[in-house]
Amino acid sequence: MSAETSKPAINRRVASLSPSATLAITAKAKQLKNQGVDVVNFAGGEPDFDTPQPFKDAAIRALKEGMTRYTPTTGLPQLKEAIAEKLKRDNQLEYKPEQIVVTVGAKHAVFNAIQVLVDEGDEVIVPAPYWLSYPEMVKMAGGRNVFVTTSEEQRFKITPELLKRAISPASKVLILNSPSNPTGVVYSKEELTELTRIAVDHGIFVVSDEIYEKLIYGNTKHYAVAALEPRFKDSVITVNGLSKAYAMTGWRLGYFAAPLEIAKAASSLQDHQTSNVTSFAQPAAVEALRNGEGEAAKLREIFSNRRDLIISELRRIPQVRFVEPDGAFYVFVNITKSGLNSMEFSQRILEEVHIALIPGSPFGAEGYVRISFATSEREIVKGTERMRSWLKK
Ligand code: PMP
Ligand code: GLU
Repeated sequence: MSAETSKPAINRRVASLSPSATLAITAKAKQLKNQGVDVVNFAGGEPDFDTPQPFKDAAIRALKEGMTRYTPTTGLPQLKEAIAEKLKRDNQLEYKPEQIVVTVGAKHAVFNAIQVLVDEGDEVIVPAPYWLSYPEMVKMAGGRNVFVTTSEEQRFKITPELLKRAISPASKVLILNSPSNPTGVVYSKEELTELTRIAVDHGIFVVSDEIYEKLIYGNTKHYAVAALEPRFKDSVITVNGLSKAYAMTGWRLGYFAAPLEIAKAASSLQDHQTSNVTSFAQPAAVEALRNGEGEAAKLREIFSNRRDLIISELRRIPQVRFVEPDGAFYVFVNITKSGLNSMEFSQRILEEVHIALIPGSPFGAEGYVRISFATSEREIVKGTERMRSWLKK
Protein backbone atom coordinates (compact mmCIF):
# COMPACT_ATOMS: atom_id res chain seq x y z
CA MET A 1 0.00 0.00 0.00
CA SER A 2 1.21 3.49 -0.69
CA ALA A 3 0.86 5.56 2.49
CA GLU A 4 -0.66 8.64 0.90
CA THR A 5 -3.39 7.03 -1.13
CA SER A 6 -3.73 3.66 0.60
CA LYS A 7 -4.28 2.22 -2.85
CA PRO A 8 -2.55 -1.05 -3.63
CA ALA A 9 0.64 -0.44 -5.59
CA ILE A 10 0.23 -3.43 -7.84
CA ASN A 11 -2.71 -3.76 -10.18
CA ARG A 12 -5.09 -6.65 -9.70
CA ARG A 13 -3.96 -8.66 -12.70
CA VAL A 14 -0.26 -8.56 -11.97
CA ALA A 15 -0.88 -9.08 -8.26
CA SER A 16 -2.63 -12.34 -9.13
CA LEU A 17 0.48 -13.80 -10.80
CA SER A 18 2.65 -16.47 -9.21
CA PRO A 19 6.39 -16.39 -9.81
CA SER A 20 7.61 -19.15 -12.13
CA ALA A 21 8.57 -22.20 -10.08
CA THR A 22 10.64 -23.60 -12.94
CA LEU A 23 12.74 -20.46 -13.18
CA ALA A 24 13.01 -20.06 -9.39
CA ILE A 25 14.10 -23.63 -8.65
CA THR A 26 16.48 -23.75 -11.62
CA ALA A 27 18.09 -20.52 -10.38
CA LYS A 28 18.38 -21.94 -6.87
CA ALA A 29 20.04 -25.12 -8.19
CA LYS A 30 22.56 -23.07 -10.19
CA GLN A 31 23.28 -20.88 -7.18
CA LEU A 32 23.92 -23.89 -4.91
CA LYS A 33 26.18 -25.39 -7.56
CA ASN A 34 28.17 -22.14 -7.73
CA GLN A 35 28.56 -22.32 -3.96
CA GLY A 36 30.22 -25.70 -4.36
CA VAL A 37 27.24 -27.89 -3.37
CA ASP A 38 27.11 -31.09 -5.43
CA VAL A 39 23.58 -30.52 -6.72
CA VAL A 40 22.09 -32.84 -9.29
CA ASN A 41 20.04 -30.57 -11.50
CA PHE A 42 16.88 -32.34 -12.63
CA ALA A 43 15.07 -28.99 -12.71
CA GLY A 44 16.37 -27.29 -15.82
CA GLY A 45 13.97 -26.74 -18.66
CA GLU A 46 16.73 -26.04 -21.15
CA PRO A 47 19.32 -28.00 -23.10
CA ASP A 48 22.56 -28.12 -21.12
CA PHE A 49 24.64 -27.40 -24.27
CA ASP A 50 26.29 -24.37 -25.68
CA THR A 51 24.78 -23.01 -28.90
CA PRO A 52 26.43 -24.64 -31.95
CA GLN A 53 29.28 -22.54 -33.35
CA PRO A 54 27.86 -21.87 -36.83
CA PHE A 55 24.82 -20.14 -35.31
CA LYS A 56 27.03 -18.04 -33.07
CA ASP A 57 29.23 -17.16 -36.05
CA ALA A 58 26.22 -15.82 -37.94
CA ALA A 59 25.47 -13.42 -35.08
CA ILE A 60 29.11 -12.39 -34.73
CA ARG A 61 29.26 -11.65 -38.46
CA ALA A 62 26.08 -9.59 -38.25
CA LEU A 63 27.45 -7.61 -35.34
CA LYS A 64 30.74 -6.97 -37.14
CA GLU A 65 28.84 -5.82 -40.19
CA GLY A 66 27.02 -3.26 -38.08
CA MET A 67 23.62 -4.88 -37.77
CA THR A 68 22.90 -2.93 -34.61
CA ARG A 69 19.72 -1.04 -35.40
CA TYR A 70 16.00 -1.66 -35.19
CA THR A 71 14.63 -4.26 -37.56
CA PRO A 72 10.97 -4.51 -38.55
CA THR A 73 8.90 -5.31 -35.44
CA THR A 74 7.90 -8.78 -36.59
CA GLY A 75 11.38 -9.76 -37.75
CA LEU A 76 13.86 -9.40 -40.61
CA PRO A 77 12.41 -10.41 -43.99
CA GLN A 78 15.09 -13.08 -44.43
CA LEU A 79 14.22 -14.60 -41.06
CA LYS A 80 10.50 -14.67 -41.83
CA GLU A 81 11.34 -16.34 -45.15
CA ALA A 82 13.48 -18.92 -43.34
CA ILE A 83 10.60 -19.60 -40.94
CA ALA A 84 8.16 -19.95 -43.85
CA GLU A 85 10.57 -22.41 -45.49
CA LYS A 86 10.85 -24.36 -42.24
CA LEU A 87 7.08 -24.55 -41.82
CA LYS A 88 6.79 -25.85 -45.37
CA ARG A 89 9.68 -28.30 -45.14
CA ASP A 90 8.95 -29.75 -41.70
CA ASN A 91 5.22 -29.21 -41.32
CA GLN A 92 3.74 -28.96 -44.83
CA LEU A 93 2.37 -25.54 -43.90
CA GLU A 94 2.26 -22.63 -46.32
CA TYR A 95 2.42 -19.20 -44.74
CA LYS A 96 3.14 -15.79 -46.21
CA PRO A 97 5.78 -13.76 -44.33
CA GLU A 98 3.01 -11.36 -43.18
CA GLN A 99 1.47 -14.22 -41.23
CA ILE A 100 4.62 -14.83 -39.24
CA VAL A 101 5.60 -12.89 -36.12
CA VAL A 102 9.07 -13.26 -34.63
CA THR A 103 8.95 -12.98 -30.85
CA VAL A 104 11.23 -12.78 -27.82
CA GLY A 105 11.16 -16.55 -27.30
CA ALA A 106 8.24 -18.92 -27.64
CA LYS A 107 7.02 -17.69 -24.26
CA HIS A 108 6.40 -14.27 -25.75
CA ALA A 109 4.69 -15.88 -28.74
CA VAL A 110 2.19 -17.71 -26.51
CA PHE A 111 1.72 -14.59 -24.41
CA ASN A 112 0.95 -12.36 -27.36
CA ALA A 113 -1.26 -14.91 -29.07
CA ILE A 114 -3.35 -15.04 -25.89
CA GLN A 115 -3.33 -11.24 -25.53
CA VAL A 116 -4.61 -10.84 -29.06
CA LEU A 117 -7.33 -13.50 -28.81
CA VAL A 118 -8.67 -13.30 -25.28
CA ASP A 119 -11.05 -10.67 -23.95
CA GLU A 120 -12.17 -10.12 -20.36
CA GLY A 121 -14.26 -13.10 -19.33
CA ASP A 122 -13.33 -15.33 -22.27
CA GLU A 123 -12.57 -18.90 -21.35
CA VAL A 124 -9.36 -20.65 -22.25
CA ILE A 125 -9.34 -24.43 -22.07
CA VAL A 126 -6.08 -25.62 -20.55
CA PRO A 127 -5.47 -29.38 -20.30
CA ALA A 128 -3.74 -30.23 -17.01
CA PRO A 129 -0.92 -30.97 -16.34
CA TYR A 130 0.08 -27.81 -18.21
CA TRP A 131 3.20 -25.74 -18.69
CA LEU A 132 2.92 -23.44 -15.72
CA SER A 133 3.08 -20.16 -17.64
CA TYR A 134 -0.16 -20.71 -19.58
CA PRO A 135 -2.62 -19.96 -16.76
CA GLU A 136 -0.70 -16.83 -15.76
CA MET A 137 -0.79 -15.60 -19.35
CA VAL A 138 -4.53 -16.16 -19.47
CA LYS A 139 -4.97 -14.19 -16.25
CA MET A 140 -2.93 -11.32 -17.69
CA ALA A 141 -5.35 -11.13 -20.60
CA GLY A 142 -8.33 -11.04 -18.23
CA GLY A 143 -9.42 -14.48 -19.37
CA ARG A 144 -10.69 -17.36 -17.30
CA ASN A 145 -8.79 -20.64 -17.13
CA VAL A 146 -10.89 -23.75 -17.60
CA PHE A 147 -8.63 -26.57 -16.52
CA VAL A 148 -9.31 -30.04 -17.82
CA THR A 149 -7.67 -32.62 -15.61
CA THR A 150 -6.30 -35.59 -17.51
CA SER A 151 -5.28 -38.88 -15.97
CA GLU A 152 -2.11 -40.89 -15.86
CA GLU A 153 -4.14 -43.84 -17.16
CA GLN A 154 -4.92 -41.82 -20.30
CA ARG A 155 -1.27 -40.85 -20.59
CA PHE A 156 -2.17 -37.32 -19.48
CA LYS A 157 -4.00 -36.61 -22.73
CA ILE A 158 -7.19 -34.66 -23.02
CA THR A 159 -9.86 -36.79 -24.70
CA PRO A 160 -12.63 -35.60 -27.04
CA GLU A 161 -15.19 -36.30 -24.28
CA LEU A 162 -13.31 -34.22 -21.73
CA LEU A 163 -12.90 -31.40 -24.23
CA LYS A 164 -16.59 -31.38 -25.14
CA ARG A 165 -17.53 -31.22 -21.48
CA ALA A 166 -15.29 -28.18 -20.96
CA ILE A 167 -16.74 -26.16 -23.83
CA SER A 168 -19.17 -23.33 -23.05
CA PRO A 169 -20.46 -20.35 -25.03
CA ALA A 170 -17.57 -18.35 -23.51
CA SER A 171 -14.85 -20.70 -24.80
CA LYS A 172 -12.41 -18.82 -26.97
CA VAL A 173 -9.11 -20.72 -27.01
CA LEU A 174 -7.83 -24.25 -26.50
CA ILE A 175 -4.16 -24.65 -25.66
CA LEU A 176 -2.42 -27.73 -27.03
CA ASN A 177 1.17 -28.61 -26.27
CA SER A 178 2.55 -31.72 -27.93
CA PRO A 179 5.20 -32.86 -27.12
CA SER A 180 4.16 -31.80 -23.66
CA ASN A 181 5.94 -30.02 -20.88
CA PRO A 182 5.76 -31.44 -18.16
CA THR A 183 4.68 -34.96 -19.17
CA GLY A 184 6.71 -35.63 -22.33
CA VAL A 185 3.60 -37.12 -23.89
CA VAL A 186 3.07 -36.80 -27.65
CA TYR A 187 -0.41 -36.86 -29.18
CA SER A 188 -1.06 -38.97 -32.27
CA LYS A 189 -2.23 -37.52 -35.57
CA GLU A 190 -5.72 -38.91 -35.00
CA GLU A 191 -5.97 -37.51 -31.50
CA LEU A 192 -4.89 -34.04 -32.59
CA THR A 193 -7.22 -34.09 -35.56
CA GLU A 194 -10.23 -35.03 -33.49
CA LEU A 195 -9.55 -32.47 -30.76
CA THR A 196 -8.96 -29.69 -33.27
CA ARG A 197 -12.12 -30.60 -35.20
CA ILE A 198 -14.15 -30.22 -32.03
CA ALA A 199 -12.53 -26.87 -31.23
CA VAL A 200 -12.94 -25.49 -34.74
CA ASP A 201 -16.55 -26.68 -34.99
CA HIS A 202 -17.25 -24.65 -31.84
CA GLY A 203 -15.50 -21.53 -33.12
CA ILE A 204 -12.61 -22.00 -30.69
CA PHE A 205 -9.07 -20.99 -31.62
CA VAL A 206 -6.23 -23.39 -30.93
CA VAL A 207 -2.88 -22.13 -29.70
CA SER A 208 -0.58 -25.02 -30.51
CA ASP A 209 2.72 -24.79 -28.68
CA GLU A 210 5.10 -26.98 -30.70
CA ILE A 211 8.36 -25.87 -29.12
CA TYR A 212 9.47 -29.48 -28.44
CA GLU A 213 8.68 -30.62 -31.99
CA LYS A 214 12.21 -31.83 -32.74
CA LEU A 215 12.76 -33.59 -29.44
CA ILE A 216 10.88 -36.82 -30.06
CA TYR A 217 12.05 -40.37 -29.62
CA GLY A 218 11.66 -43.82 -31.10
CA ASN A 219 9.01 -44.10 -33.79
CA THR A 220 7.00 -41.17 -32.47
CA LYS A 221 6.09 -38.50 -35.00
CA HIS A 222 5.20 -34.88 -34.55
CA TYR A 223 2.25 -33.44 -36.45
CA ALA A 224 1.69 -29.73 -36.80
CA VAL A 225 -1.89 -29.14 -35.75
CA ALA A 226 -2.55 -26.44 -38.36
CA ALA A 227 -1.64 -28.84 -41.18
CA LEU A 228 -3.99 -31.67 -40.25
CA GLU A 229 -6.96 -30.33 -42.22
CA PRO A 230 -6.94 -27.37 -44.64
CA ARG A 231 -9.61 -25.48 -42.67
CA PHE A 232 -7.61 -25.67 -39.43
CA LYS A 233 -5.24 -22.96 -40.63
CA ASP A 234 -7.96 -20.33 -40.07
CA SER A 235 -8.22 -21.21 -36.38
CA VAL A 236 -4.78 -22.44 -35.32
CA ILE A 237 -1.85 -20.37 -34.11
CA THR A 238 1.35 -22.39 -34.37
CA VAL A 239 3.96 -21.44 -31.79
CA ASN A 240 7.55 -22.54 -32.10
CA GLY A 241 11.04 -21.28 -31.43
CA LEU A 242 14.75 -21.88 -31.49
CA SER A 243 15.35 -22.43 -27.76
CA LYS A 244 15.01 -26.16 -27.37
CA ALA A 245 15.83 -27.65 -30.76
CA TYR A 246 19.00 -25.62 -31.33
CA ALA A 247 20.18 -25.00 -27.75
CA MET A 248 19.48 -21.27 -27.96
CA THR A 249 17.45 -20.54 -24.83
CA GLY A 250 19.34 -17.38 -23.91
CA TRP A 251 18.98 -15.83 -27.35
CA ARG A 252 15.24 -15.32 -26.95
CA LEU A 253 14.08 -16.35 -30.40
CA GLY A 254 10.56 -17.60 -30.98
CA TYR A 255 7.77 -17.10 -33.46
CA PHE A 256 4.23 -17.91 -34.37
CA ALA A 257 2.33 -18.38 -37.61
CA ALA A 258 -1.32 -17.37 -37.68
CA PRO A 259 -4.23 -16.17 -39.78
CA LEU A 260 -3.33 -12.75 -41.22
CA GLU A 261 -5.73 -10.80 -39.01
CA ILE A 262 -4.18 -12.25 -35.86
CA ALA A 263 -0.62 -11.73 -37.05
CA LYS A 264 -1.41 -8.09 -37.89
CA ALA A 265 -2.96 -7.48 -34.48
CA ALA A 266 0.04 -9.07 -32.77
CA SER A 267 2.32 -6.87 -34.83
CA SER A 268 0.57 -3.72 -33.55
CA LEU A 269 0.74 -5.08 -30.01
CA GLN A 270 4.44 -5.75 -30.36
CA ASP A 271 5.03 -2.28 -31.88
CA HIS A 272 4.16 -0.82 -28.49
CA GLN A 273 5.71 -3.52 -26.39
CA THR A 274 9.08 -5.02 -27.33
CA SER A 275 9.49 -3.95 -30.96
CA ASN A 276 11.85 -6.36 -32.70
CA VAL A 277 13.87 -9.25 -31.33
CA THR A 278 17.59 -8.32 -30.93
CA SER A 279 18.80 -7.45 -34.42
CA PHE A 280 21.99 -9.50 -34.60
CA ALA A 281 20.38 -12.56 -33.00
CA GLN A 282 18.10 -12.88 -36.01
CA PRO A 283 20.76 -13.99 -38.54
CA ALA A 284 21.71 -16.77 -36.10
CA ALA A 285 18.12 -17.98 -36.29
CA VAL A 286 18.27 -17.89 -40.10
CA GLU A 287 21.42 -20.02 -39.98
CA ALA A 288 19.87 -22.50 -37.52
CA LEU A 289 16.63 -22.83 -39.47
CA ARG A 290 18.32 -23.15 -42.88
CA ASN A 291 21.40 -25.21 -42.05
CA GLY A 292 20.90 -26.51 -38.52
CA GLU A 293 19.26 -29.87 -39.08
CA GLY A 294 22.53 -31.74 -38.49
CA GLU A 295 23.04 -30.00 -35.17
CA ALA A 296 19.40 -30.57 -34.15
CA ALA A 297 19.75 -34.27 -34.97
CA LYS A 298 22.86 -34.53 -32.79
CA LEU A 299 20.99 -32.99 -29.87
CA ARG A 300 18.03 -35.29 -30.37
CA GLU A 301 20.31 -38.33 -30.38
CA ILE A 302 21.88 -37.31 -27.06
CA PHE A 303 18.47 -36.68 -25.49
CA SER A 304 17.18 -39.98 -26.81
CA ASN A 305 20.01 -41.88 -25.06
CA ARG A 306 19.41 -39.97 -21.86
CA ARG A 307 15.73 -40.74 -22.03
CA ASP A 308 16.41 -44.47 -22.29
CA LEU A 309 18.87 -44.25 -19.43
CA ILE A 310 16.61 -42.34 -17.05
CA ILE A 311 13.69 -44.64 -17.77
CA SER A 312 15.73 -47.71 -16.89
CA GLU A 313 17.16 -46.03 -13.78
CA LEU A 314 13.76 -44.82 -12.54
CA ARG A 315 12.29 -48.29 -13.05
CA ARG A 316 14.65 -49.48 -10.32
CA ILE A 317 12.97 -47.22 -7.77
CA PRO A 318 9.93 -49.08 -6.43
CA GLN A 319 8.42 -46.01 -4.73
CA VAL A 320 7.79 -44.17 -8.02
CA ARG A 321 5.96 -44.80 -11.26
CA PHE A 322 5.70 -42.80 -14.44
CA VAL A 323 4.41 -42.63 -17.99
CA GLU A 324 7.31 -43.05 -20.40
CA PRO A 325 7.92 -39.80 -22.27
CA ASP A 326 7.98 -39.87 -26.07
CA GLY A 327 9.16 -36.28 -26.39
CA ALA A 328 10.60 -33.18 -24.72
CA PHE A 329 13.13 -33.83 -21.92
CA TYR A 330 10.96 -34.47 -18.90
CA VAL A 331 9.63 -37.44 -16.95
CA PHE A 332 6.55 -36.74 -14.85
CA VAL A 333 6.89 -39.02 -11.87
CA ASN A 334 4.11 -40.17 -9.56
CA ILE A 335 5.38 -39.80 -5.99
CA THR A 336 2.21 -40.53 -4.03
CA LYS A 337 3.79 -43.65 -2.45
CA SER A 338 6.28 -41.39 -0.67
CA GLY A 339 3.46 -39.98 1.46
CA LEU A 340 4.71 -36.44 0.72
CA ASN A 341 3.00 -33.82 -1.36
CA SER A 342 4.93 -32.55 -4.36
CA MET A 343 6.15 -29.38 -2.66
CA GLU A 344 7.38 -31.24 0.43
CA PHE A 345 9.01 -33.88 -1.75
CA SER A 346 10.87 -31.26 -3.84
CA GLN A 347 11.97 -29.23 -0.84
CA ARG A 348 13.17 -32.22 1.15
CA ILE A 349 15.00 -33.92 -1.70
CA LEU A 350 16.83 -30.67 -2.41
CA GLU A 351 17.76 -30.04 1.21
CA GLU A 352 18.58 -33.61 2.20
CA VAL A 353 20.31 -35.06 -0.88
CA HIS A 354 20.75 -32.05 -3.16
CA ILE A 355 18.50 -33.04 -6.03
CA ALA A 356 16.70 -30.16 -7.74
CA LEU A 357 13.42 -31.03 -9.42
CA ILE A 358 10.12 -29.25 -9.92
CA PRO A 359 6.98 -30.05 -7.89
CA GLY A 360 3.90 -31.03 -9.87
CA SER A 361 1.55 -28.58 -8.16
CA PRO A 362 2.46 -25.50 -10.27
CA PHE A 363 1.81 -27.67 -13.36
CA GLY A 364 -1.67 -28.38 -12.03
CA ALA A 365 -0.90 -31.94 -10.90
CA GLU A 366 -0.42 -32.76 -7.22
CA GLY A 367 1.25 -36.09 -6.43
CA TYR A 368 3.89 -35.72 -9.15
CA VAL A 369 7.28 -34.16 -9.69
CA ARG A 370 8.95 -33.22 -12.95
CA ILE A 371 12.40 -34.62 -13.60
CA SER A 372 14.31 -33.03 -16.45
CA PHE A 373 16.90 -35.13 -18.24
CA ALA A 374 18.56 -32.12 -19.79
CA THR A 375 21.68 -33.13 -17.90
CA SER A 376 24.57 -35.54 -18.46
CA GLU A 377 24.30 -39.33 -18.25
CA ARG A 378 26.66 -39.23 -15.28
CA GLU A 379 24.36 -36.88 -13.42
CA ILE A 380 21.33 -38.99 -14.36
CA VAL A 381 22.89 -42.09 -12.81
CA LYS A 382 24.13 -40.19 -9.76
CA GLY A 383 20.79 -38.45 -9.20
CA THR A 384 18.61 -41.51 -9.59
CA GLU A 385 20.87 -43.53 -7.28
CA ARG A 386 20.66 -40.80 -4.67
CA MET A 387 16.92 -40.70 -5.06
CA ARG A 388 16.66 -44.46 -4.66
CA SER A 389 18.55 -44.57 -1.38
CA TRP A 390 16.76 -41.46 -0.10
CA LEU A 391 13.35 -42.97 -0.80
CA LYS A 392 14.36 -46.28 0.79
CA LYS A 393 14.80 -44.40 4.06
N1 PMP B 1 6.44 -23.52 -24.21
C1 PMP B 1 6.84 -24.54 -23.43
C2 PMP B 1 5.94 -25.72 -23.31
C3 PMP B 1 8.06 -24.50 -22.77
O1 PMP B 1 8.44 -25.51 -22.01
C4 PMP B 1 8.87 -23.37 -22.92
C5 PMP B 1 10.17 -23.36 -22.16
N2 PMP B 1 10.69 -22.23 -21.75
C6 PMP B 1 8.41 -22.32 -23.74
C7 PMP B 1 7.19 -22.44 -24.37
C8 PMP B 1 9.16 -21.06 -23.93
O2 PMP B 1 10.35 -21.20 -24.62
P1 PMP B 1 11.28 -19.96 -24.95
O3 PMP B 1 12.54 -20.19 -24.21
O4 PMP B 1 11.50 -20.02 -26.43
O5 PMP B 1 10.59 -18.73 -24.54
N1 GLU C 1 10.06 -23.88 -20.07
C1 GLU C 1 11.17 -24.31 -19.28
C2 GLU C 1 10.66 -25.11 -18.09
O1 GLU C 1 9.52 -25.45 -18.05
C3 GLU C 1 12.08 -23.18 -18.92
C4 GLU C 1 11.70 -22.34 -17.76
C5 GLU C 1 10.51 -21.48 -18.05
O2 GLU C 1 10.62 -20.59 -18.87
O3 GLU C 1 9.48 -21.78 -17.47
O4 GLU C 1 11.40 -25.42 -17.21
